[in-house]
Amino acid sequence: MLPRVAFAARNTLRSLRTGVQPGNKTRLVIETANRPSYTLSYPTNQLVVNLANTSANTGISAKLSSDGLVKSIAQSQNGDVLQIVANLRKPIAEISKSSIMILEPNGDNDYRLVLDFVAGTAPSVSKTGKSSSAKSEYTTSSATATTAVTAARKYVIVIDAGHGGKDPGCIGKGGTREKDIVLSVAKKLKNKLDASGFKTHLTRNGDTYLKLAERASIAEKQHADLFISLHANANPSRSMKGFSIYTLSEKASDEEAKKLAEAENAADKIGVSGFTEFEENIRIALSSLQQHAVAEMSEEYATGCAKSFKRADIEQQPGPDVRHAPFAVLRSTIPGALLELGHLSNASEEKLLKTDKHQNKLVDAIVRSVKNYNFEV
Ligand SMILES: [Zn+2]
Repeated sequence: MLPRVAFAARNTLRSLRTGVQPGNKTRLVIETANRPSYTLSYPTNQLVVNLANTSANTGISAKLSSDGLVKSIAQSQNGDVLQIVANLRKPIAEISKSSIMILEPNGDNDYRLVLDFVAGTAPSVSKTGKSSSAKSEYTTSSATATTAVTAARKYVIVIDAGHGGKDPGCIGKGGTREKDIVLSVAKKLKNKLDASGFKTHLTRNGDTYLKLAERASIAEKQHADLFISLHANANPSRSMKGFSIYTLSEKASDEEAKKLAEAENAADKIGVSGFTEFEENIRIALSSLQQHAVAEMSEEYATGCAKSFKRADIEQQPGPDVRHAPFAVLRSTIPGALLELGHLSNASEEKLLKTDKHQNKLVDAIVRSVKNYNFEV
């Protein structure tokens, strides 16, 4: 990539940091004062980033996540080029274009070159039968043949239909059960997302009971990029209508969100002590960097999802676009949101939620929100 300005002012390194992203990706962030111009190379167990026209900054110390693949990091100045050498715990393959980003300055951040990678080498070029014996002098070393031939990975979405089995969820006056509505929507959503090129998994495919932690762990096992938990709501006020969208936080954003999380968490019948214990385990499993990244990505998805619902003219429950509460099902390393699709306690919305037409409208809005979600940042 050529610098945009031929005689650009000299760039300066501002910070170096690593973190761990969902899917066990190590993220290396190189922050610079101006837009970086870079090349990458991959010596054994190293990732080398050459930044053109950039000065070293010995006044900074790299913040390295102990969970990541980067063991240590060093800067060296070669004329105009700043070389950043990341020493890795395990070898990596060439980083694909889709895992390299340059982010514009925002808030406290300057330009950031963001590189995501996982352990493992590119598949080696397969040997062609016994023909190699003919010219044994050509011992092609695997190092020279490391052209990455990995196919574009499909994003993995885990769709969680809430409740099920002995737990019906909330029940409308007309007898409509939350567990049936959300399963129907989940199946429709799976079909449409599959058709749109995503890889999807349902946490339940039938009328079965699953603990909340099991649902979260399915998302972990599938290395999901996004987790969507589907629910329908009930409110003591039968006039209350509309959808609402939630992400995980330790503190509820409002009293209503708090009550809702308590109601949804009750599906698990986790005692107070058990719940604390579970929280503790998750807290150990997640580094603060990771927690922060997951929360940020979830917020971004949820905000886009609310926008998509509103654009589809789906009635919204009065209040903020995204609310927060300590939902047990959202406790994982996977970004995601809990969608309350509407109120079964409202007679007209109960009728609406049962129809294929309205379910498809909801599904289309969710599909759009997934397509618009930026999986890479
Ligand atoms: Zn529910």
